[in-house]
Amino acid sequence: MPNVDLHCHSTASDGLLSAAEVVRLAAQNGVEILALTDHDDLGGLEEARAAADEAGVRFINGVEISIEWMESQVHIVGLNFDAGDAALNAGLESIRAGRVSRARRMSEAFEQIAIKGTFDGAMRYAGNPNLIGRAHFARYLVEIGVCKDVRSVFDSYLVPGRPGYVAHRWPTMQDAVGWIVRAGGIAVMAHPGRYKFSKGEMRRLFDEFKLHGGRAVEVISGSHSADNVKTFARLARKYDLLASCGSDYHGPGESYVGLGKLPPLPPDLTPVWEAF
Ligand code: AMP
Ligand code: MN
Ligand code: MN
Ligand code: MN
Repeated sequence: MPNVDLHCHSTASDGLLSAAEVVRLAAQNGVEILALTDHDDLGGLEEARAAADEAGVRFINGVEISIEWMESQVHIVGLNFDAGDAALNAGLESIRAGRVSRARRMSEAFEQIAIKGTFDGAMRYAGNPNLIGRAHFARYLVEIGVCKDVRSVFDSYLVPGRPGYVAHRWPTMQDAVGWIVRAGGIAVMAHPGRYKFSKGEMRRLFDEFKLHGGRAVEVISGSHSADNVKTFARLARKYDLLASCGSDYHGPGESYVGLGKLPPLPPDLTPVWEAF
């Protein structure tokens, strides 16, 4: 089985390395097929592709789209689409605009608990000023000594029920899967092991995903336990989905596993890259 990593981030969203640096690290780690999947933005793809050509890595266009499902944030990865597709780009543009207004509301929420200046502070960590996210707030809060690391900022401030968390409207499953499919790509359910849904809700999530044209699921993810792998291998079989694998690498010190440092897919599943 080739070394494949189809989920990672650069400074075009909330990763710590530039797109070219991500690709060079992937090449060093022996990755043969790589997709860069920045949140809601395609700005790193061109740079990544050029670096991949140079390094002899096969590069696949990727994106990770934030959606809302049952009032929770869910992520849909898109792979191997036409990055020039107008509807996809317009959809992502609208998500980015929403992120800026969410960041303003987050900053106001922090003001309420006497933590000032978080919008400007977070913005300094955003390599792409149009793509502001919770990770940039987390890095700023670590900088000013509110928490010791990014993970504790999320736990104490940035998840539902915590004071820096604000509700936000994201696109629907139908929107995101539709944009990816109409741009010629494959829609992948990202890291389902991370969602806090009941079994019944998870089945409904997969039913809806299939209904709208979803074709693959991340069975192997940097954030999946061995149990998660078993569960989602079973759902891949049940829903006849292709199997994907990705580290969700965000950079040194902020990642579950290294780029390309993933266990193999269960051998009976069909790898998503067979459809590229
Ligand atoms: P956003 O898209 O702005 O809502 O932020 C989501 C991103 O925050 C994810 O893609 C991760 O990079 C990061 N993230 C989410 N939850 C956690 C957590 N518990 N610890 C560290 N980072 C997290
Ligand atoms: Mn992220
Ligand atoms: Mn994600
Ligand atoms: Mn991700």
